[in-house]
Amino acid sequence: MKEKEEYMDQSFRDSIGTIDEDGKRHWISPKKPSGKYYNARTWVSVILLLFLFSGPFIRIGGHPLLLVNILERKFVLLGQVFWPQDFYIFVLVMLSFVLFVVLFTVVFGRIFCGWVCPQTIFMEMVFRKIEYLIDGDFKQQKKLRDSQWNSEKIRKRILKHGIFFLISFLISNTFLMYIIGSDEWIKLVTDSPENHIVGLASIIVFTGVFYWVFSWFREQVCIVACPYGRLQGVMLDRNSIVVAYDYVRGEMRGKFRKNENRGEVNKGDCIDCNQCVNVCPTGIDIRNGTQLECVNCTACIDACDHMMESVGLPKGLIRYDSEEGIVNKEKKIWSTRTIGYTVVLTIILCVVGFFLMSRSEVEATVLKATGQEYQKRPDGKVSNLYNYKIINKTYDSIPATILLKGMEGEIQIIGKEALLIPSESIAEGSFFLILDMDQLGQRKTDIEFEIIDQNGELLDDMKTSFLAPVKRKK
Ligand code: SF4
Ligand code: SF4
Repeated sequence: MKEKEEYMDQSFRDSIGTIDEDGKRHWISPKKPSGKYYNARTWVSVILLLFLFSGPFIRIGGHPLLLVNILERKFVLLGQVFWPQDFYIFVLVMLSFVLFVVLFTVVFGRIFCGWVCPQTIFMEMVFRKIEYLIDGDFKQQKKLRDSQWNSEKIRKRILKHGIFFLISFLISNTFLMYIIGSDEWIKLVTDSPENHIVGLASIIVFTGVFYWVFSWFREQVCIVACPYGRLQGVMLDRNSIVVAYDYVRGEMRGKFRKNENRGEVNKGDCIDCNQCVNVCPTGIDIRNGTQLECVNCTACIDACDHMMESVGLPKGLIRYDSEEGIVNKEKKIWSTRTIGYTVVLTIILCVVGFFLMSRSEVEATVLKATGQEYQKRPDGKVSNLYNYKIINKTYDSIPATILLKGMEGEIQIIGKEALLIPSESIAEGSFFLILDMDQLGQRKTDIEFEIIDQNGELLDDMKTSFLAPVKRKK
């Protein structure tokens, strides 16, 4: 049996599980997990993967469910188009998302990483499963890795990496569909390649990146690259629910001996079988406590429950629990911090809701054209030249009219008989506003334009000014 001082050894914090003592990559081959949590996670992953791959083809009212077209600065969420002009809503949504993640993490730890994160789902539920199928469980994987190159190793490596590359290609195409839309993607893959050099090059680059991540970089994404993982230290507190080892019950750990009364020989319930370490995809020992490498994948809970069952001890030595829960048997979710975050989150969500409800579908700006301040007309009237920009965020083209509010005046749109704002587009152009001098008492007059549709419905209004020569006193 190990001595207590050994458990207080903190040297595990000096390095990460994927780097050995010489600073080289320590290749992790976790034991294939099994158990109720693993089965549940498999089902959750199947649902999420189905959703991810079918997402680009789902339409709401004929429009994409999600489109993040950074190139054309066009975003669609649940069939609603968002433009750069709606950026303030985007910022608020992002802010509430970040706050939600923080709040969720404070209460439930890294549950997101283990159950929902695409990196974990692809790595553990797709690529790792294929690896188990081709290379076998962790011991066979290690044996194959250490073996000389022979026909079997070459065959397995080609098969495995070939499948990895194909899946990376599939993921890459799916991500591209979320950027350019499935219709554009279909054009891209059916049209002549020379018309889509950039699109095809992006597919190849994305495929290469995904292949590199899932075949080589792997769990290091969670350990060294993911900012969310890095923030755990400041987000978790003693009440956060995480995958935790019950050291109060488990220590002093010691090997299992049949018919031995563990209490009498001062042994805790941990039988030191190392199964929780063998299954860990990030190569850590959860018995050292909460560590940033832990993605809360629950594999160690399943492994430990299985061992506890085999030796007739109660399950749950590793479980979802908080530090408080383990030490004082107290489960407390609400703390001052969580209440504070919830209040702020609720306020932000209300503001987002308000902006979403009041978001206009047509947005217009009218600015005085630079250059000549005004033009004197042969009939004695005065005109000002304006530039307009009208954004139509809807999926329908809108015939519109620009009107001057509260004054008599003539509007001449340059180069157009009528104004038509194409769907999901911006209409830009210039127009003259011609006014009678009698209406103008001063050099600068505040004016207001209205844009109405063919039914006379107000779409937007804009304020600007009209400049005219100063009237000479008679
Ligand atoms: S410690 Fe357990 S929950 Fe955390 S990553 Fe390892 S196996 Fe998963
Ligand atoms: S699986 Fe459970 S019993 Fe085995 S070493 Fe880990 S904590 Fe101890």
